[in-house]
Amino acid sequence: MAIAAGADRARAAELARDIRTALAQPIEGDGYRLYLTASIGISRSPEHGESGMELLRRAEAAMTRAKRQGRDEACEFSAAQMQELEDRLVLGARLRDAIARNELSLNYQPQLRAADRRITGFEAPVRWNSPDLGPVPPGRFIPIAEALGLMPEVGSWVMNEACRQLRAWLDQGRDGFTVAVNVSAQQLQRPDFVQQVRETLQRHDVPAPMLEIELTESSLMENVERVQGRLAELKAIGVSLSLDDFGTGYSSLSYLKQFSLDKLKIDRSFVKDLPDSADDSAIARTIIAMGHQLRMVVAAEGVETEAQAAFLREIGADELQGYHFGRPVASAEIEALFPRD
Ligand code: C2E
Ligand code: MG
Ligand code: MG
Repeated sequence: MAIAAGADRARAAELARDIRTALAQPIEGDGYRLYLTASIGISRSPEHGESGMELLRRAEAAMTRAKRQGRDEACEFSAAQMQELEDRLVLGARLRDAIARNELSLNYQPQLRAADRRITGFEAPVRWNSPDLGPVPPGRFIPIAEALGLMPEVGSWVMNEACRQLRAWLDQGRDGFTVAVNVSAQQLQRPDFVQQVRETLQRHDVPAPMLEIELTESSLMENVERVQGRLAELKAIGVSLSLDDFGTGYSSLSYLKQFSLDKLKIDRSFVKDLPDSADDSAIARTIIAMGHQLRMVVAAEGVETEAQAAFLREIGADELQGYHFGRPVASAEIEALFPRD
């Protein structure tokens, strides 16, 4: 840590540059050469805080951003980060109680077979309706839940609620569909995750093949070997595994074949400009061909128009999901759509 009294913004940046230059000198040893880099966070008083503790915390937040941007950089704490920290405090405090207060719910969005547009299942994204803050989208509160260590609670609530709802539908004589829940990297990394899935299915007496777990590429690439083991255990239970937002992450194709995945979901960014965009058509075709070669079902998400749906079917997509067929809605509203024999 360096403290510079009376330094303005420019001086602080200069200091950070000097530190990085000094550290960049390789350290020569007996037969080795060591290279060091530094990720530096800068905070200034009084703009970013008055107390030493506050300044330290903010410098740390800025350093985390420097690391995220690829390390070996200096970042200054920003107004946007200030907002983010405040967001985190406000949302985090409310989120802690949200589960106990019954403020979370699941919505359901239909997934259809492209060939005959029969419903095969529903994805169940979580919703948080806070009495103080109103509806908070998952894209905003899930990262905060992760940062605050609240994800195990949120995740097990989601898993339990999905299975509870599945059981209720089974009891009404509805059958022949799946419910897909999203699982974050942090959840998957927990040692008791598989056991938790098993217990939840048992608690509600739900057949494992009715439960689908959606994972993202980044969550597979963290601790690859551990994840491989975990996915194999999940497969052994009988749940099915989907790779969400496919094409936006950095998954390695050589790993892809080693994970026992059942489904690839083409990210909606590649669907948005179909069928007009030649590039996106090429990407969609390629993902479909590759998925099929690896014996996976290929689904497309974010289907908003009939033209997209028809095109995706034509190029071989197996399943479709998106506003064109239905937005995520509460369980009571989705019941009208159930597959009928
Ligand atoms: P996702 O799993 O890729 O979910 C699809 C998102 O796209 C949903 O947003 C859904 O409302 C939206 N969507 C569906 N069809 C269309 C469409 O045709 N057009 C457009 N523009 N959007 C569409 P939502 O519900 O806000 O969820 C955002 C993300 O939050 C999800 O992306 C998922 O990554 C995460 N998430 C949601 N629920 C959970 C959860 O229970 N656990 C975890 N870990 N993550 C969750
Ligand atoms: Mg999903
Ligand atoms: Mg997705």
